[in-house]
Amino acid sequence: MIEEKAFEMKDELISIRRALHKIPETEFEEFKTAEYIRSKLTEYGIPYEAVCGTGTVVTINGKNTGKTVLLRADIDGLPIKDESDFEVKSERVGYMHACGHDIHATCLLGTVKLLNEIKGTLNGNVKCVFQPAEEGSGGALPMINEGVMENPRVDGAFGLHVEPLEKTGNIQIKDGSIMASPDDFKITIQGTGGHGAYPEKSVNPLTVAARILERCHAIPKKYDLPCVVTVCEIHGGTARNIIPASVIMTGTARSLDSDTRAKLNSLIREIAQTTAEEYGAAAELDFSLLFPPVVNDAGMNAIVRKGAEKLSCVKKIITLEKPSMIGDDFAYFAKLVPSAYFRLGVGNADMDAVYPLHSPKFKADENALPIGVSVLVQTAVDFLDTFKG
Ligand SMILES: [Zn+2]
Ligand SMILES: [Zn+2]
Repeated sequence: MIEEKAFEMKDELISIRRALHKIPETEFEEFKTAEYIRSKLTEYGIPYEAVCGTGTVVTINGKNTGKTVLLRADIDGLPIKDESDFEVKSERVGYMHACGHDIHATCLLGTVKLLNEIKGTLNGNVKCVFQPAEEGSGGALPMINEGVMENPRVDGAFGLHVEPLEKTGNIQIKDGSIMASPDDFKITIQGTGGHGAYPEKSVNPLTVAARILERCHAIPKKYDLPCVVTVCEIHGGTARNIIPASVIMTGTARSLDSDTRAKLNSLIREIAQTTAEEYGAAAELDFSLLFPPVVNDAGMNAIVRKGAEKLSCVKKIITLEKPSMIGDDFAYFAKLVPSAYFRLGVGNADMDAVYPLHSPKFKADENALPIGVSVLVQTAVDFLDTFKG
């Protein structure tokens, strides 16, 4: 029944997705996107609450006071120029829904509509969260701070992300860590500067930066840690014959658990300081803790799996061996309540022509839209049935 209702909505889902696809907006400036989402909710006669400016929350109360499950969709786009060959293009030059958050928002709108139709059968409440700023500073934590986990109190959460490198009809799940903590670091190296002709008379911070880069990149192997450390920027120097006095380097330090996360912070600090000392320079580290890793609960994954097994539109449920080193601020929900974050295949029939997330050529198969709705609705219903009093 859920699946049939979701597939009846397919044309509407496609038109919603295309409307959102044309107006990608970035962190906390998702004004048109929020307006569109809210206009659809008004059209469906479903009340909502605006949270953190462009965030929107819908609570669907079931037939009795059971548990409350949260479904989250992020809604923001990226500052990427749309170069895909998809027939509908971004109408905002320089911006694109290249991470598929337009699809997440569409699937959640369809889910809200369908759950609202069947609310008389639900054994509890469903809180549907349209969250801004996932790609930027993060919208999950501000929404939590605004009380999104309360009234009614949330008992479990599910989140979905599209995966263009997986075929439409398949979903991917993984117990434990599925997404990394995408922390940032910045190292400022102070040397002395001087003439390029006399390197022996000055402390060249570029030499120090090169050595720090090498040592940082060696961390995962050397310490056998499940992490990634990548230096992505080095800024220093003004001319080909002047040794600069200082250099700034930045990078990303990604880990899958809090121990490794803390270890990376101290290892990078130690490498920066001892390397600088070796050369007679000084180094300062700013380590910015961004999102925690996304850690899935095995029980919640089992609900996704069992739910998906009931749906004929889901062809394969793939258990991932390895987590992704990308981050997602769904992690904040998953830290508070048992959660499952799974991936929805949106790779089209010609898998040689798919591009990864964040590619300017990113394209998704819209046939996945009703599948996403089916899985979300089934999962929410099954969660409430599992934990009914
Ligand atoms: Zn993204
Ligand atoms: Zn994303």
